Amino acid sequence: MSRIAFIGLGHMGGPMAANLIKAGHDVRVFDLVASAVEQAVGLGATAADSANAAAANAEVVISMLPASRHVEGLYLGDGALLAHIPAGALVIDCSTIAPASAQKVAKAAADRGLAMLDAPVSGGTAGAAAGTLTFIVGGDTQTLEKARPILSAMGKNVFHVGGSGAGQVAKLCNNMALGVIMAVTGEALALGAAHGLDPAVLSQMMAVSTGRSWATEVCNPWPGVLENAPATRGYSGGFGNDLMLKDLGLAAEAAMGVGASIPLGELARNLYALNSKAGRGGLDFSSVVKLVAPDQ
Ligand code: NAD
Repeated sequence: MSRIAFIGLGHMGGPMAANLIKAGHDVRVFDLVASAVEQAVGLGATAADSANAAAANAEVVISMLPASRHVEGLYLGDGALLAHIPAGALVIDCSTIAPASAQKVAKAAADRGLAMLDAPVSGGTAGAAAGTLTFIVGGDTQTLEKARPILSAMGKNVFHVGGSGAGQVAKLCNNMALGVIMAVTGEALALGAAHGLDPAVLSQMMAVSTGRSWATEVCNPWPGVLENAPATRGYSGGFGNDLMLKDLGLAAEAAMGVGASIPLGELARNLYALNSKAGRGGLDFSSVVKLVAPDQ
């Protein structure tokens, strides 16, 4: 059992913290949203008044925040959390952020003698709830081995892809592929529907054919095709459009940094930007299908 501080109890952090509690860890939580903290307390967590208070006495500090600015603000900003983490504690940031930001925070942690991993996740809210996330880890091997039992309480796959920041690069590659695949799956279903096909039957066929993907099988963008997909509940919950937009922006930045070409990634970024402008920034990213099927 470890004393764990968990900062950021949103769509992902909430269920991840719940799995740590279930595994018997002593979890102290903090989020800016009081109801998120109350929910975790209902599951057995201890509430802290601030991130710094959550981290006092912690052996492990985990953060799950929206974007680079939140992570840098938490660890390096006013009242910097890094200054309040006990010596020898392990720091794991699971947010999806810019690789350069992850490296900057890890370097500041190292300067204080704290080992830090970037460990963004894949698997969505369903994976977070089921404890089946994939962790994509950047950092040194020794630190990862210390973190492994903690990560295993929240996920079933742990990939060590390189040094500090490498977890974020790999995560951006994955999400760029996901963003493109979701958008084109929506287009395919809209095309079929326009020809009078039943999107559910079309999806079932694609799910056992070469068009198969997470978008056809798990997070199908067409309402009513999958009972548990965000599309069927008005695109609520799930992975926010604006988080996908952020990830595609990070992928574009990462591509520019090394002179890589990502034509489809850039096109997808524009589609999610249009979806956001249409008022769907807070909805699940599969709502991008509404750009081509507005009546759905
Ligand atoms: P979310 O917006 O639901 O949750 C973020 C939480 O962080 C919120 O509860 C917010 O109040 C809290 N927060 C922000 N700043 C804070 C601070 N300074 N101190 C304490 N709490 C703070 O986001 P999410 O969907 O849980 O995603 C979190 C991260 O995981 C993002 O980087 C996202 O890209 C990534 N991710 C999300 C999914 C998904 O399916 N939702 C899947 C994989 C990865």
